[in-house]
Amino acid sequence: MTIKRPILSVVVPLYNEAAGIETFYQALHGVLEALQIEYEIIFCNDGSRDDTLAIIRRLAKQDRAVRYLSLTRNFGKELAVTAGIHAARGKAILMLDADGQHPVKRIPEFIEHWRAGAKVVVGIRTANRHQALIKKLGSSTFYRLFNKLSHTRLVPGSTDFRLIDETVQHDFIRLTERNRITRGLIDWLGYKQEYIYFEANDRIAGEATYSLGGLLKLSIDSVVSLSVSPLFVVAYIGAVVLPLSLLIGLGMVVNLLFGDPLGLHATGGAYVAVLTLCLVGILMVSQGVIGLYLSHIHAESQNRPLYLIDRDNSSDKL
Ligand code: UDP
Ligand code: MG
Repeated sequence: MTIKRPILSVVVPLYNEAAGIETFYQALHGVLEALQIEYEIIFCNDGSRDDTLAIIRRLAKQDRAVRYLSLTRNFGKELAVTAGIHAARGKAILMLDADGQHPVKRIPEFIEHWRAGAKVVVGIRTANRHQALIKKLGSSTFYRLFNKLSHTRLVPGSTDFRLIDETVQHDFIRLTERNRITRGLIDWLGYKQEYIYFEANDRIAGEATYSLGGLLKLSIDSVVSLSVSPLFVVAYIGAVVLPLSLLIGLGMVVNLLFGDPLGLHATGGAYVAVLTLCLVGILMVSQGVIGLYLSHIHAESQNRPLYLIDRDNSSDKL
């Protein structure tokens, strides 16, 4: 028996979502049925400690459109989603959270954009009524900082609620790095993106698993994965300190040789201070040189494809 290839794969990462998964599945099922296309739902259990696995196994038995995979332990959402994207067989792959925060009723709009030719459709969160001020401030600071530091542009509010075409999936599979932020990698791949603006719902049940500390780690991971600029911050400071100390040092030596015409009355301590400043400057600049080599090693070890081709002549013959 050959299994008909689905048009749409829906990838859902799950960590301790037992309380809300049933409600979520019902809502998702309703929306997907209404689309009248062949689809599959891939539940990715990320080492849940509650009944999540038992529930998705039951759902898979009841509904042949449901597939599931269960990771051996909690690997984190990014890897759970990655596993789902690897397993997806559809021509388009949609990923979304299981907690109901990504509104399933907006899924048809993602499909519409995809049918119109978009290869990446990104859900942009406009507002979350109950989001804490600290999270809001944190996220806006993150986007501002990130876009200063990296060549990969991130649109503020862009989420993991997104659809990718199978060609993008193939490119995504070629990315093998371990420290990964799924949405960052999809952004890095390029391709023109279409946006869908949505207001995040409240969680159906349970607590968000990302603590403030967790979010901070996620932000740092994103920067490290997509930018090498932080390696050079100290070097930039050194680039100011070094010439400045050399200039002052030179002034002091000239002053010493010609009998203090500038009236500095420089003490021995001052000479030592300037010398120290100069040496520190040299160290800072050499950190930048090390950073330069590190950044090359970093890029090599990520082993990303050299380039990606969006379309060529053969795409036009279709
Ligand atoms: N999730 C996961 N592994 C984890 C943490 C979360 O698969 O280690 C799933 C979770 O079940 C949900 C989605 O990722 O479907 C988003 O998680 P959550 O709602 O906790 O995060 P936030 O809303 O803060 O992004
Ligand atoms: Mg959530």
